[in-house]
Amino acid sequence: MKKMPELFGNMVFNDAVMKERLPKDTYSKLKKTIKEGTALDIDIANAVANAMKEWAMEKGVTHYTHWFQPMTGVTAEKHESFLSPTEDGIIMEFSGKELIQGEPDASSFPSGGLRATFEARGYTAWDPTSYAFIKDNILCIPTAFCSYSGEVLDKKTPLLRSMEAINKQALRVLKALGRDDVKRVSTCVGAEQEYFLVERELYEKRPDLVYTGRTLFGAKPPKGQELEDHYFGAVKRRVSAFMKDLDEELWKVGVYAKTKHNEVAPAQHELAPVFATTNIATDHNQIIMEYMKRIAKEHGMMCLLDEKPFENINGSGKHNNWSITTDTGENLLKPGKDPSKNLQFLIFLSAVIKAVDEYQDLLRVSVATAGNDHRLGANEAPPAIMSIFLGDDLLEVLEGIEEGREVEARKKDTMLTGVEVLPDFAKDTTDRNRTSPFAFTGNKFEFRMLGSSQSIAGPNIMLNTIVAEELSKFADVLEKDASEMTIKAIVKDTMKHNKRIIFNGNNYSDEWVKEAKRRGLLNLSCAAEALPYFAKEKNINIFVKHKIFSREEVLSRTEIMEEEYSKIINIEALTMIDMAKTQILPSSMKYLKDIAKAAKTKREISENISIGLEEELIEKLSSLNELLYATALRLEEEVSEAQEIINIERQAKYYHDKVSMTMSELRGYGDSLETIVDRSYWPYPVYGELLFSIQ
Ligand code: ADP
Ligand code: MG
Repeated sequence: MKKMPELFGNMVFNDAVMKERLPKDTYSKLKKTIKEGTALDIDIANAVANAMKEWAMEKGVTHYTHWFQPMTGVTAEKHESFLSPTEDGIIMEFSGKELIQGEPDASSFPSGGLRATFEARGYTAWDPTSYAFIKDNILCIPTAFCSYSGEVLDKKTPLLRSMEAINKQALRVLKALGRDDVKRVSTCVGAEQEYFLVERELYEKRPDLVYTGRTLFGAKPPKGQELEDHYFGAVKRRVSAFMKDLDEELWKVGVYAKTKHNEVAPAQHELAPVFATTNIATDHNQIIMEYMKRIAKEHGMMCLLDEKPFENINGSGKHNNWSITTDTGENLLKPGKDPSKNLQFLIFLSAVIKAVDEYQDLLRVSVATAGNDHRLGANEAPPAIMSIFLGDDLLEVLEGIEEGREVEARKKDTMLTGVEVLPDFAKDTTDRNRTSPFAFTGNKFEFRMLGSSQSIAGPNIMLNTIVAEELSKFADVLEKDASEMTIKAIVKDTMKHNKRIIFNGNNYSDEWVKEAKRRGLLNLSCAAEALPYFAKEKNINIFVKHKIFSREEVLSRTEIMEEEYSKIINIEALTMIDMAKTQILPSSMKYLKDIAKAAKTKREISENISIGLEEELIEKLSSLNELLYATALRLEEEVSEAQEIINIERQAKYYHDKVSMTMSELRGYGDSLETIVDRSYWPYPVYGELLFSIQ
């Protein structure tokens, strides 16, 4: 292995490379563009493109692609070669125009009715704030994806817009507070990624894993995660070889993969990178997911990113650690030694509290997917109810201001050893509240409801936008008067109206569900119920106001998400029907037939030998087989019925209320059979094998 400094970023056309390879003048103009978000002129683009091509070709690269993030949630690319014919042969060429703008055939990407297929023209535009990099021998240029008429067709453009919005509003607030030194505010994200690894050979034998990425049948194995012996346990050799390769490949493309460990469930692991500016963190998370899948395969394994690959075993999520920082290197969510006197911190904290309360629905929408429906609200992941964990100390500060009392800064916490561990107010002793969906963890908020397979763009678009909205309202007040009294009045007002969103207790408890209801908090239990909230008037208004989405774009995105939800359940239902009819039933019937034969043989030998066991098994198998078959047929009918529903919102509801309920029932019969039928008859590997085979 090469030394880390040599390896890190050696496949990235980063600042150091640009500085080295671009003419001084071009370099500084490009930097200006990146810093200020101004348009790039074509001469500079030509120079940059040429330098990029030369650099890439030295590394053996012959093709480039505009790398974009359509609304499918995964990345897309279309490879073009540098090759260009001339009169007497070919030359390798890459122009500025090709760098800054591309035109993939966009007709098959979801657009939610925004763009008919015959107007397939969409274009991709370079996002110069995210470096180009080489992946699988292809020069990848991170881009945004729009239609010619200007509608946004991807996840990246609104994310960049939301970052612009929060920058603008945070700067207004800071300026009102006399902070003229700050020129730019950005949000930063560190996304912790959970995943499962299973044996590739076993995976390929299960149609459910192959078609849907998760198991749709599977009885509970004798051992699950109850011993908690996997969490942070020693990493198995094959897994650690995989992790080493993954780290190295990620480092090459500039993704600073930092921590890795085993998670709670058997075969479950986690990777966390060092946090980065939100758009870059989003690109990096996409790369991380893609590389995990690819490198696992190279190691004879499959990486499952689905939210709930196994029933009764913890699912996978993604923790979105989010903070707001300035170009002067300050984290605006850092409380400092005495938060009660840190007025700037209190304003930003209040903005987040107000935003999360008033736009609970949008945060819930941003994590509403078919896969995540199986996690949220189950006793492993945060509930579907939004709330904020602040910790007792910070809550006391805010309550002090609410009630007009002086609050003493708490003494630093001292561990029993007598060692002072925390230099600042930084962490509350209880900040390990793992049940909270949105927890303050010292100097950042950790949004924990995200599903493991989803793009982090959506949740961050929401977060940036709703906080920008609250900051804009605060700025309106502060621009007139930014005295301590006014600031405290804002905090007080936030506590008065939005305190209900703060909850430091156990989010998994039934009492919380009741208490949240009493407080009037939303509890949107499934995606089909949550998604329509996206297009509520109050929500459309802020997207339009901050220029993130037009009204039409919100409506179309709602439809895209609802449609995707239905499609996923549809595929899962069809897979289950197929497995039930062509795998489970035949195996079970074969076993039944052999038992019957055995009983008959016994009878032939002697009337006195008991065939009670055979009779009992035959009875059980017959009745389960019949139930399985009848339920599969009913599911088939429901699926056809679902497809007839024209209204997309109603269709999603139907898939949830009807289809997915029947799927659970069908699963029940299949799983019961699995516990009776001779393992050698069973058509696919069972949970025990999937979860414990990798050594
Ligand atoms: P945990 O205790 O949950 O592992 P860490 O402090 O190790 O928390 O951070 C987890 C993730 O949060 C990492 O990806 C890390 O880079 C990220 N992170 C740390 N500080 C910040 C910050 N100020 N803003 C955004 N993300 C951060
Ligand atoms: Mg975490």
